[in-house]
Amino acid sequence: MKFNTKTIHGGQEHDPAYGAVMPPIYQTTTYAQSTPGGHKGFEYSRTHNPTRTALENSLASIENGKHGLAFASGMASIDAVIKLLEPGDEVISTNDLYGGTYRLFTKVYEKYGIKFHFIGMENAAKIETYINANTKLIWIETPTNPMLNVIDIKSIAALARTRQILLAVDNTFATPYLQQPLTLGADIVMHSATKYLGGHSDVVMGALVVNDDDLAEKLAFLQNASGAVSGPQDCFLMLRGIKTLHIRMQRHCENGKKVAEFLADHPKIEKVYWPGFKDHPNHDIAKSQMKDFGGMLSFITIGNDYNEAIRIVENLRLFTLAESLGGVESLSGHPASMTHASIPKEEREKTGVVDSLIRLSVGIEDAEDLIDDLKQALN
Ligand SMILES: *Cc1c(COP(=O)(O)O)cnc(C)c1O
Repeated sequence: MKFNTKTIHGGQEHDPAYGAVMPPIYQTTTYAQSTPGGHKGFEYSRTHNPTRTALENSLASIENGKHGLAFASGMASIDAVIKLLEPGDEVISTNDLYGGTYRLFTKVYEKYGIKFHFIGMENAAKIETYINANTKLIWIETPTNPMLNVIDIKSIAALARTRQILLAVDNTFATPYLQQPLTLGADIVMHSATKYLGGHSDVVMGALVVNDDDLAEKLAFLQNASGAVSGPQDCFLMLRGIKTLHIRMQRHCENGKKVAEFLADHPKIEKVYWPGFKDHPNHDIAKSQMKDFGGMLSFITIGNDYNEAIRIVENLRLFTLAESLGGVESLSGHPASMTHASIPKEEREKTGVVDSLIRLSVGIEDAEDLIDDLKQALN
C-alpha cells in the first residue's frame, strides 16, 4: 500500500459488530468477561480501547512501523521514551529543541540522574565525541523548531546502530508524508499528533511508532503503568484527521513555498529560514530525505527590532497569533516570548532564536490571501 492509501486504509478494518466504516467511539472504561480472564482482547481502557487500537494501527501504518502507541499529549509520549532510561544514563540531543522537550529533559529528568547533552548536529562526527558507555539515547528533531535546521537521519542512525544507542526522531514538523524516520534507520518515531496529524487544532495527543517488538512491549508497559493515554473521542478525531494528511500536507508545502519566496523578496526582511531554499545550509539533506519542504518557516526583519516583530504579529489578520502549528489555519508565533520562553535567552540566541524571530505555520488557505495579509502587516 502506498502512503496516500495508507492514510485512509492503513491498519483499518471495518468494525466487526456492524461493519461501521469509521471505527466507533468506544466510550467505555471496561469490558464484560464471561469468566475471569474470558474477554475479547479488551479489559480496561487505560490498557486498551478499540478506538485507540484502531488509531494505533493507523499510526504504525503511516510511519512504516509495526507498533503504534497513542498518548495524552506529545509530551506524554516523550516522557514514556525517557522512562526507558535509568539514573546514570546519558542522552545526546539537538541544541535547538522544542522548548517543552528541553524543559522536560532539564527540569524533570536531570533530577532523576539522567544527563543530557545539547549539541549542534550538522555532522555525525561531532556527535561521536559525546558518546560514552553511558549513552543510551540520541533524541533529534528535524526540521528543528523554529530554526528549520535539517538533520541527516540516515547518518545518525548508522552511528547509533554501531554503538547500540537508540535513535528517537520527533517527526512532528515533517510528518510521515515528508519523511519516514524508521525507514531511514531510526528506532523510535515520536509525534505531537496535536499538530499536523490531527491537523484541525482540536486535539492534543502524542504518538510513538516503533518496529522492534521488545521496545514496543517496554513502551506499552510504560504507557499502561503511567497511564497518560488518549481517550476514545480524541482517537476518533485523530483518525479522521489522518485521512486527509496527504492532501493537507501537499497544500501546506505549496503555500509554504509561495510565502517563503514572497518574504525572501520583501525589502524589510533580513532572512527567511526555510529548507527549500538552495542556500539553506542543509538543503541537500532536506532534498534527499524529505519529499518536499513543508509549511513551516521563520524569518527575521532588517534591524532585528523586537518591537517591530511584535507589531507585525499583532497586525496579521489571517495568520492568528497563537501557540501551536500544523492546523489547516495559518498561525504566527514569536518564539522568544512564546514557545521558547522556557529556554534561557543566552541559550536561545546561540541557536538563532533572536528577539525579532517570527515563526509561521502556513495553512491551507489561498496563498494569495496569506501573502496579502503579510504585505499589509509588514507595511
Ligand atoms: C508541540 C510539540 C511537542 C509537544 O507536543 P504536545 O502535543 O504539545 O504535548 C513536541 N515536539 C514538537 C516539535 C512540537 O511542536
